[in-house]
Amino acid sequence: MASWPIGADDGALRTVTYSTRTMGTVGGVILVTPDSTVAAADAFAAHAAFRLVDSLMSNWTTTSEVARLNREAWPDATPVQRDVARVLTTALAIGRASDGAFDVTVEPVVRAWGFLGGTPDVPSDSAVAAAFRHVGSDKLEFDAARGALRFREAGVRIDLGGIAKGYAVDAAADSLRSRGIPSALVDVSGNMTALGRPPGAAGWRIGVRDPRDRMPYFARLTLTNESIATSGKYEQFVASDGGTYGHIIDPRSGRPAEGLISVTVLAKRAMSADAWGTALFVLGPEAARRKARERDDIAAILVTPGENGVDTVWVERPIADRLQLVEDAGRFFRVRTF
Ligand code: ADP
Ligand code: MG
Repeated sequence: MASWPIGADDGALRTVTYSTRTMGTVGGVILVTPDSTVAAADAFAAHAAFRLVDSLMSNWTTTSEVARLNREAWPDATPVQRDVARVLTTALAIGRASDGAFDVTVEPVVRAWGFLGGTPDVPSDSAVAAAFRHVGSDKLEFDAARGALRFREAGVRIDLGGIAKGYAVDAAADSLRSRGIPSALVDVSGNMTALGRPPGAAGWRIGVRDPRDRMPYFARLTLTNESIATSGKYEQFVASDGGTYGHIIDPRSGRPAEGLISVTVLAKRAMSADAWGTALFVLGPEAARRKARERDDIAAILVTPGENGVDTVWVERPIADRLQLVEDAGRFFRVRTF
């Protein structure tokens, strides 16, 4: 996981974690309750939300709605299920707002690198070029009002892997809110929404993962009624000839994005945090700082590799006071604000 809750102060109430496997990773919800059996019904409602989103948006199965769209959106338009239409609308908007860094049509290239089933491997230049030919959001014809999608050419495919986990977290958090739950932490692989706060605490304390795993987390943040996501190279990558290639692809070059080793984004909704995390990772250090500064709906923490084992943590000014480095982190990180 990219980041995780550190724990909360307990009073008479306890914080109980309910985990499940979902979306090819681990998802869960932390609830505050005197009785873990009673709270289990709420946890199952959150897990059901994960399951629904997984069944619709998985890029690993042939049975998801996304897999069906990839088979049926060419040559004629096909209706799009409501949740998928919502995610696609946001994905395309963030695609435009990120100057094309976030692009759901990157699927053929992600597949060529072996990140969608099979064993990740460095593909030949000709394989990348063949896949890259079908990349570009201009190849999608999405009618949001009618909820219909058409691909403009054969070979186009979409991949919601950079945004669907965030949407699953939002869906679970919404279901908890509708059940009247004032306080919870929802987490799918480091995509998290903090609902309210644990009793007696200022918020949910979150650890931000060290991208090089020298310590479990290098900094802490306290969250309440907001979301966080971390994107990095450390979960899925190919190592070859001394280089490592991550599963985030630059849709402008067809090559794995380079420059940053980790991106953490704070936003109101987990879907935005997730997609912007991927987008900023693609943009690279300078453009990511510019973009994050220019938008007030997101705040970013970027890690760039440094010399002699000391990396740089770039914290956006509005959240700089909230980020607390852990004791040992000074040996491996220096902090700069932007
Ligand atoms: P993780 O899945 O580890 O949480 P991300 O949220 O960054 O990480 O999503 C990475 C996934 O997003 C990839 O596995 C791929 O499915 C998809 N993806 C890769 N590059 C892009 C891109 N430029 N735009 C949109 N989605 C992407
Ligand atoms: Mg993402």
